[in-house]
Amino acid sequence: MRRSVRCYVALGSNLGGPIEQVERALKALARAPALTLVAHSRLYRSRPMGPAEQPDYINAVAMVETTLAPLELLDRLQAQERRQGRVRGDVRWGPRTLDLDLLLYGDDTIRSARLTVPHPGLRERNFVLYPLHELSPELVLPDRTRLSELLKACPAEGLEPVCGRET
Ligand code: ATP
Ligand code: CA
Ligand code: CA
Repeated sequence: MRRSVRCYVALGSNLGGPIEQVERALKALARAPALTLVAHSRLYRSRPMGPAEQPDYINAVAMVETTLAPLELLDRLQAQERRQGRVRGDVRWGPRTLDLDLLLYGDDTIRSARLTVPHPGLRERNFVLYPLHELSPELVLPDRTRLSELLKACPAEGLEPVCGRET
């Protein structure tokens, strides 16, 4: 049996009822075999990255423990994206029903054709850093950068917790 590894997954949606999409994806993570959903952040609303003429995003981060290998975990995440109607268009960072990014896989650094971990956007995206900090304020990246240091350099502008409902 493989050892269990703590991982962080970023969730994002701006189509097809984004709050429900993120909640559905969290439920799917909670039910997935060989994977335990340990905790998740609140849901946040954020301004779109890339093309501006698209709806705001709903974002969250999940902390999971898994015995899956990194590419097996990526396969699972991509299967869930497809299940929730993700269509891969040509527009980079275009609108989508669900985006699941593997942010961290334990302390591993991975660079392969399909997978880069830590996720390359992690360091500068406020919609990733703030929910991640909510879950693990003491987190240190594989290269020893402290999450709290990244946060200081990243304004929370345009990011707000989704209020008024239980998540
Ligand atoms: P970004 O990666 O900048 O957030 P995106 O999420 O819109 O952009 P996608 O179209 O969802 O990008 O994914 C493109 C490819 O990125 C995927 O097919 C996948 O193989 C690859 N990829 C590399 N590293 C990761 C990772 N850590 N998590 C998820 N996908 C990754
Ligand atoms: Ca993404
Ligand atoms: Ca993605």
